[in-house]
Amino acid sequence: MNIHEYQAKQVLREFGVPVARGIPAFTVAEAIKAAKELPGPVYVVKAQIHAGGRGKAGGVKVVKSIEDVEKEAQRMLGLTLVTKQTGPAGKEVRRLYVEDGSSIEKEFYLSALVDRETSKIAFVASTEGGMDIEQVAHDTPEKIVQIVVDPATGIMPHHGRALAQTLGLTGDLAKQAGKLIEQLYTAFVAKDMAMLEINPLVITKDQKLLCLDAKIGFDSNALYRHPDIVELRDLTEEDEKEIEASKFDLNYITLDGTIGCMVNGAGLAMATMDIIKLYGEAPANFLDVGGSATKERVAAAFKIITADKAVKGILVNIFGGIMKCDVIAEGVVAAVKDVGLKVPLVVRLEGTNVDKGKEIINNSGLDVISADDLDDAAKKIVDAVKKLKAA
Ligand code: ADP
Ligand code: MG
Repeated sequence: MNIHEYQAKQVLREFGVPVARGIPAFTVAEAIKAAKELPGPVYVVKAQIHAGGRGKAGGVKVVKSIEDVEKEAQRMLGLTLVTKQTGPAGKEVRRLYVEDGSSIEKEFYLSALVDRETSKIAFVASTEGGMDIEQVAHDTPEKIVQIVVDPATGIMPHHGRALAQTLGLTGDLAKQAGKLIEQLYTAFVAKDMAMLEINPLVITKDQKLLCLDAKIGFDSNALYRHPDIVELRDLTEEDEKEIEASKFDLNYITLDGTIGCMVNGAGLAMATMDIIKLYGEAPANFLDVGGSATKERVAAAFKIITADKAVKGILVNIFGGIMKCDVIAEGVVAAVKDVGLKVPLVVRLEGTNVDKGKEIINNSGLDVISADDLDDAAKKIVDAVKKLKAA
């Protein structure tokens, strides 16, 4: 789960992390009020969306008067911001953050994540902050340094020294770096973060380290331990289909292809997506209906898939182990009766109660293309979608 910059800064503040003063605003009037509460004379108006790259897209503006705060707030609220990270559809700005303007001497990059290879929390630091870190990683990978923390020791003074050295900091700034990395690590572990990114971390003109941007992603599996974090969830930033799926305990992720998939078991779902690709189309979603899905859950899943305008064909691929094929068939038939079917549907059933399942589909009067195995099913749905595209 992701949160907004202003919320991330609030979380970090609890751990003593140095961040600029700022106030969130949902309306232009609130933005003006926020600016009046800040010392000025430099303010920064920042669009709050769950994506970075706002600066280059006009979503972060440094201004020098309350009138300009008003102007920028007016311009940004309701705007659909398209940044490198939003995708071409962009994201609508519904919240702003009005922040104290800082005088920046230098910008750095600092992030932390769970490194799956070493099973440790790793910090990633670079002197090349503020810009496209992906570009830096590609062009000059030697400018990016990893500092790995062993969970057995936790954060140690040598991690702080490594960070200071990486960023070329000495004296008091090196001390600040040591304190900062400790605070960030503590916050990361305490709140079960999956990713924390400070870009830029800056040195201000008065020689203080300050986190000017903050992005946090939390481990969804640990959210039950953090009701305070769950409260920060902004559903308007999330995919509607994924929210709907989560209500039914479905493992659903939206993808950008054309073939809607309904599969049971994550492994079979992955294999199904692979074979669709192999035959030249792409999946519109990942969906694992689970081992113990009911007719209602199957119907809900089917409705989520059919509601997706990108879906040009549907492939139901079920191996009935614990799951019974007739339950799947009933769910599909019920959903189609409810919402109709406007795209080709290929069904491949195998396993427990397969004959009953096929019978239900065959007697339903639905226009279903049945398939014998996974290969056959993938070929049939890809062919059907290609035909539809050509027509
Ligand atoms: P994004 O990463 O989405 O572009 P940032 O929060 O990193 O957004 O802001 C972009 C740039 O704007 C920063 O690299 C920094 O130069 C400048 N900036 C952001 N916040 C402030 C601030 N409080 N004071 C001065 N400059 C800022
Ligand atoms: Mg940034």
